[in-house]
Amino acid sequence: AAEEGFDAEEVEGAIEEAGHGPLPVLAVVGRPNVGKSTLVNRIIGRREAVVEDKPGVTRDRVTYEAEWAGRRFKVVDTGGWEQDVLGIDASVAAQAEFAIEAADACLFVVDATVGATDTDEAVVKLLRRAGKPVVLAANKVDGQSGEADAATLWSLGLGEPFPVSSLHGRGTGDLLDEVLKKLPEAPEQRFGNAVGGPRRIALIGRPNVGKSSLLNKVANEDRVVVNELAGTTRDPVDELIELGGVTWKFVDTAGIRKKVHLQSGADYYASLRTAAAIEKAEVAVILIDTTDKISVQDQRIITMAVESGRAIVIAYNKWDELDEERRYYLEREIETEMQQVVWAPRVNVSAKTGRHMDKLVPAIETALAGWETRVPTGRLNAFLGEIVAAHPHPIRGGKQPRILFGTQAGTKPPRFVLFASGFLEAGYRRFIERRLREEFGFEGTPIHISVRVRE
Ligand code: GDP
Ligand code: GDP
Repeated sequence: AAEEGFDAEEVEGAIEEAGHGPLPVLAVVGRPNVGKSTLVNRIIGRREAVVEDKPGVTRDRVTYEAEWAGRRFKVVDTGGWEQDVLGIDASVAAQAEFAIEAADACLFVVDATVGATDTDEAVVKLLRRAGKPVVLAANKVDGQSGEADAATLWSLGLGEPFPVSSLHGRGTGDLLDEVLKKLPEAPEQRFGNAVGGPRRIALIGRPNVGKSSLLNKVANEDRVVVNELAGTTRDPVDELIELGGVTWKFVDTAGIRKKVHLQSGADYYASLRTAAAIEKAEVAVILIDTTDKISVQDQRIITMAVESGRAIVIAYNKWDELDEERRYYLEREIETEMQQVVWAPRVNVSAKTGRHMDKLVPAIETALAGWETRVPTGRLNAFLGEIVAAHPHPIRGGKQPRILFGTQAGTKPPRFVLFASGFLEAGYRRFIERRLREEFGFEGTPIHISVRVRE
């Protein structure tokens, strides 16, 4: 590598940075108005979260990537919940339930100027039950004088309260140091396969696409009683179902089965649930209601799954309802609206009649195989050499950037680092991704390509 102009350390660093699998997840929970969203803004270091949002505006973004002291993790912000939806206690509990469930550690935010309330105590109970590591933030300690308020929060029994001012940044560094201590390096322990347990599937899709019908269909027809598998703890919201001779874990099925009827806040609740399910799963089966136009909401859900780097299968449901005409338009919509997942295996199913249920498992297996594919470095570089020779990057400003070499830094999903002599244009990067897919498959998986440019 040295003769190509990159030193070994630089190469190693780039590979390590790009090679991470799924990131550990931190859930930020607490009552409304304690400053969760303000704190999330601090943590992600951007003004991208919700604080500026006007009341009543639906937020769908609930997960953000953050980095502190060189470590990357995800933050789930539960601050978008509208407090009048179910009554404060119920709504805090409902949002916390999903967020905690999907997290590797929790950041519990309390307003130190108010002190611990009954609702805070209720959240403490939820946190205890979940048994996840917890860091306690005593927020709104804007100055020295507030430190005493923070100290009273020892009474919650969660250990040391970290006094912070999310608004001004006071104390947030110490808080994040503590968070990193409690967050695992990688969320591998949540992934069944790491310990030889069942693979994890999330059924996602907008309300009424047929998630609960599909779950019932697969559970009723093919279920063997697998309540207690050796070596697995049964999570009450997850369900073990045997399909095609293999036991799978369908995650967050309680969220699917439990229908929540809300006037306002329903969209946010659905987004939070979807995000939580995706985080817990290795593969997302995204349901599309074929009797309806493919919508922006469908695409947002797809984007969430793609951005989270999960294996993806698209299930076009309610196929029993299709007539010739709708079918014609559906195929046109798929061509235009489903571009971001053209690589995902597709099954045309009916949760009602059971049509093509037998195709589901092979599709899931294909997607998981793509997700775990590793291309040996030698083979990758032979391939890169061929493309560069046959399709060089266009000349820009008298120079021609060249891919010098590359490596696959990680799997789940596949992540590549390319080392180049100059900046590679977006169009060329897309071309490389297309060619990688043609060559190596990667069916059903997003792939990440990062490019390092020689100084
Ligand atoms: P959330 O509902 O828990 O997400 O709370 P927000 O982040 O929306 O904050 C609620 C209110 O508290 C807003 O008016 C914030 O500006 C304010 N706030 C948040 N953090 C602090 C802080 O550290 N100090 C002070 N003084 N106000 C804060
Ligand atoms: P969820 O909100 O995504 O869990 O959707 P449900 O499973 O509750 O389904 C919403 C509605 O669509 C219900 O009335 C179901 O009976 C209906 N439905 C679900 N799957 C199918 C299907 O394959 N064909 C038809 N015709 N209806 C379906």
